Amino acid sequence: MKKFISIILSLALVISIAAIGGVSATEPVSSEILTECGGNCDVCPAIVVPGIGQSNVWLLDDDGEYVLDGDGNRINCFPGYFDIGKIVSKVLLPAILTLVTQKDMGFSNALAEALAGAFYMNSSDFNGKAPDCVEVEKYPYSVAECSDYEKEQIYGNIPLQDYANRVGEDHLYYFAYNSFGNNIDIVDELYAFIQQVKKETGHDKVNIVPISMGGTVANGLLDYYPEVVNDLNKVVYIVPALNGSTIVGDVMTKNITFLDVDYLYNGFLEGLMDEEDARMIEVIARILPDELLVKALDTAVDKLLADVFSKNTNMWALLPKEYYEEASEELLSAPEYAKIKEQTDRYHLAQVNSNKNIQNLVDNGVQVFNIVDYDFPLYNIGDAWNADNADGVIQLSSTAMGVHSALVGETLPADYVQQNTYCDDPAHNHISPDRVVDASTGLLPDTTFYFDGQAHEKTARNDVIIKLATELLATDNITDVYSTPDYPQFNYARDVRGLKNDRLPDAKNALANVEMSAEDKAELEAAIAEAEMVLNRTAGEEGDIEASDARIRAILVKIGVYAPEEEEKPSTIFTNISLFLYDNFGTDGYSELAAAAFCLYLEFVKEILSIIVKVL
Ligand SMILES: [Zn+2]
Ligand SMILES: [Zn+2]
Repeated sequence: MKKFISIILSLALVISIAAIGGVSATEPVSSEILTECGGNCDVCPAIVVPGIGQSNVWLLDDDGEYVLDGDGNRINCFPGYFDIGKIVSKVLLPAILTLVTQKDMGFSNALAEALAGAFYMNSSDFNGKAPDCVEVEKYPYSVAECSDYEKEQIYGNIPLQDYANRVGEDHLYYFAYNSFGNNIDIVDELYAFIQQVKKETGHDKVNIVPISMGGTVANGLLDYYPEVVNDLNKVVYIVPALNGSTIVGDVMTKNITFLDVDYLYNGFLEGLMDEEDARMIEVIARILPDELLVKALDTAVDKLLADVFSKNTNMWALLPKEYYEEASEELLSAPEYAKIKEQTDRYHLAQVNSNKNIQNLVDNGVQVFNIVDYDFPLYNIGDAWNADNADGVIQLSSTAMGVHSALVGETLPADYVQQNTYCDDPAHNHISPDRVVDASTGLLPDTTFYFDGQAHEKTARNDVIIKLATELLATDNITDVYSTPDYPQFNYARDVRGLKNDRLPDAKNALANVEMSAEDKAELEAAIAEAEMVLNRTAGEEGDIEASDARIRAILVKIGVYAPEEEEKPSTIFTNISLFLYDNFGTDGYSELAAAAFCLYLEFVKEILSIIVKVL
C-alpha cells in the first residue's frame, strides 16, 4: 500500500507541475568579499539550479503565517496538499450515492473539485503569477553561511559535500525557486543571483549546475540574458529538461493513456507499479461502471488543466517545443490568457534556441558538460511514452540535446553507422556499447556522459554521477569524455547504499567477531575486497554492485550471520481475477457484470421452465 501511495504521489507530481510565483524580488547584496580565497583561487563558485520539487515552498494563511498540518508541521506546497479529511468529506457522499445508484451522482465533479482544492496553492493568476499564500525557502548566501537545517535541505537534494569539503562551502550556492513559479521571474532572479555570487566571492565567473527542471531555467537564462556568457566558466547540466518532457506535452494536449478505457483496466497501472498491486486496484475500480470512472478521470484532468496547468508558465517550460502550437492553441486562445501566452511564447523561443545558445557558450570559451540517463522507459502516462528512449521522466533527446537513439529495449539497426552530426573526429566511437545511443548526434558528443538504466529520480543516488559532477566542478582534470578512463562516455546506473552502508560493515564486523572455517574466512575476505573495489571504481560494470552485494550476503548466510532469505512466492490472486474479468467482461463494472449475469440466469430459468412445461 505504501508503494501504491508513493505511486499516486509521484503521479500527482508528474501531473501537478503547476504554477506559483511567490518569489520575493530583492535579495540582500553584500559589497564585501566573503570568501577565504578573496576570489583568487582556481575554482569558480558553483550555483546549483535544482530540479522540480527540490525547493521548499511553504503554505501561508491570510495573515502570512505558516499553515500547519495535523502534526504541527509546515505544509510543503509541492506537489500539492492532500488534506485527506477534506477530500473525503467532499467526495464521500456523492461517491456513496454514485456507488448505490451506479450513476454519476456528482462524483466526477466532487472529485475534480477536491483535486483542484489540493492544488490551489499551485494555481497562477492570469498574469502567470503565483498566489500570495506561498513562500519559497531561499538561501541567498553561500552554503558556508547556511544553518545546519539549511545544509540538510541542500545536501539532501544534491549530495555535494565532497565538493564543498575540497573547495570550501563558501564556493557553493543553491538557487531555490518555486517549481510552480513564474518562469521569467525565476530566470530574472537567477541572473541577479549570479551577479551577487560574483560580487561576494570575488570571482569574475561562476559555474552553474542546472538539474532537470533547472535546465528550463538555464534555457531562459541563456536566451533572455545573452550577456551571461561572460559570467560563466562552466555549465554542468545534469539530466536537464532542455526540451521539456513528453509526459507534460501529452498531458497538456490530453493525449493521456489512462483515458483509454481498455488501457486503464489492463496495462496502465502495471506500467507504474507492481503487477499484483495494480491488478488489485483494477479489481476494486470495477465497483463503478467503466464509463463513469473514465468520466471522473476526464473531468479531473480538465479541471487540473484549466485551474493549474494552463496558467503556469513554469509548467509550460516543461512542454516539448513540438507540442507548443497545439497546446497553446487549445489552452491559451481565450483573450484572458493573453498575458500568459506572451510569456510562454517568449519561453518557447528560448527553448527553440536552446542548442544554438549552448553552442554560443562553447564558442565563447565556456566549458559545457552534460550528464544524462537512458534506457529507463518513460512513465506510461502520455500516449507518446515510448516514442523515444528516456530516463523515466524525460525523453533522452531532451536531456541529451537532440541525440538519436534506439527505443528502450531495442538497439540501433545492425547496419547503422555513426552519423557524426556534431563530431568530426573519425577516431571517436560515440555508439554506446549496448548499441542504443549514437552520441555523435547530440549537440555535445565529446562532453556528454551517459548512464545506462539509470532512473531520473535516483540520479543523485548514483555516487558516480555525483563524483563526476564534483570532479568537473572542483578541478579542470576532465575536459571531455576521453580525459580519463575513470569517467568514460558510457557508464551505468547504480545505487551503492545497501552495499556501502549495510553489507560491507556487516561483513567487516563478521570478519572481526565471528568464528569461521579458514575456507569461509578466505571467501569473506575476498568478498570484502571485491566490494571495496567495485565501490571505489567509477568506471563500473553493469550490475557489479548487486553482484557484490549478493556475494557478501551468501557468505554471511553460510556462516550464520544472516538468516537465509525465504523464497516468497508472490501472490497472484488479484492478477488472476483482474485478467479473468478483463478477458471475459472487458472493462465492465460489477453492476454491469451483475446485469449480464442476471440475463444469463433468466435464460437459464426460462430453459428450465420450458423443460418442465414440456414434461408436464
Ligand atoms: Zn575562490
Ligand atoms: Zn567526438
